[in-house]
Formats: sequence, C-alpha cells, structure tokens
Amino acid sequence: MEILDNHRLTGARWAPSPHHDARPGGSGVELAVVHCVSLPEGVYGTGAPERLFLGTLDGGEHSSFADLDGMEVAPHLLIDREGEIVQFVAFDRRAWHAGVSSWRGRAGCNAFSVGIELEGCVADGYDARQYESLRRVLVTLVRHYAGLSVERIVGHAEIAPGRKLDPGPAFDWSGLLRNVTADVAACGLDQQPLIGT
Ligand SMILES: [Zn+2]
Repeated sequence: MEILDNHRLTGARWAPSPHHDARPGGSGVELAVVHCVSLPEGVYGTGAPERLFLGTLDGGEHSSFADLDGMEVAPHLLIDREGEIVQFVAFDRRAWHAGVSSWRGRAGCNAFSVGIELEGCVADGYDARQYESLRRVLVTLVRHYAGLSVERIVGHAEIAPGRKLDPGPAFDWSGLLRNVTADVAACGLDQQPLIGT
C-alpha cells in the first residue's frame, strides 16, 4: 500500500466523488479523522453510503434517507465491514466530511484533514478486517505526509463534541494507536523519509 503522485492510495478502489474542492491557504494533510457511517443506520452491505458520497443516493430508497437528498458529503476513504477500501477524493483535495469542527482551536477541519469512514454505527463494534485496513492506511498516510503524525489521529466526536459521536464508544483507540505507532517506528528503521505536504 502506497500513495501515488496523484495522492491516491494503491489498494483502494477509486470512485471519484464531486464533493470536494481545493484545500485553502496552502493547507496540507495535518490530521486524520475517523468516522462511521451506515445507511440505514446499523444495516451493512447496502452500498448506500457509497451512493451518498457519489451524489447518486435516491432519498426515496428508504424512509430514513429523505433528509439526505441533495446532501454533498464525502470522505477521502470508506472502509467496509470486510476491510475493502474505496477512495472518493484525492488526499491533496479538501473532502467535505467533518462539517462544523475544531481541533486545538483551529476551526474548519476539512481544510487540513483526511476523512476516513468506517462502515459501522456508534452502537456497534468494528470488524477486525476494518482495523487491519485502517492501521495500514494510517501508517501509509503518516509515512507519506510530513504534517501528519500518530498524535494527529482523532475521531469525529473529538473535533465536533456535542454534535457527533462517531466512531463511538466501542472503537478500540488504544489498540489502533498502539499498532500504528509500532508500525511507523518499524518503518523508520529501514525506509527513507518520504517527502509530502
Ligand atoms: Zn463523522
């Protein structure tokens, strides 16, 4: 798994979304935000999150989708329950995933973050295959983008407190961050540092 010159991840299926724009003011990748999504809530394998992110979801598909009609949102990546990865937006672009948000006093986190959606909901746990894919993605991002580090991996709830809960209380932060930290350290022993923004 690596990141190409066009800011796309090898090992991810490319499904380009229109829901992005330029990162403003020279912002780079300085934060990774973990989310969860399922449509309908708690139902997996429907393909509806991908259609939402591509702008092709029909609000009439399900009674709970009505207020999603016309919503323009997308993460950079979606990891499904089997650990398969889809990329919607190149990492050098601002994807519209976090909404009103703030991290360490800095508002508008979309400008300087990568958004990663896990197929799931805050009431559920996550599949081991999702953790494995997420770990590999985060190690690759941290190694590639100089502005990103293990300390700069957060949940949506952390940057939008009181408004968002994802990825939820069942998410294993300690295990994930321990594994990512170990992998980044191991990579550093035999890899040249990579240039990135
Ligand atoms: Zn979220």
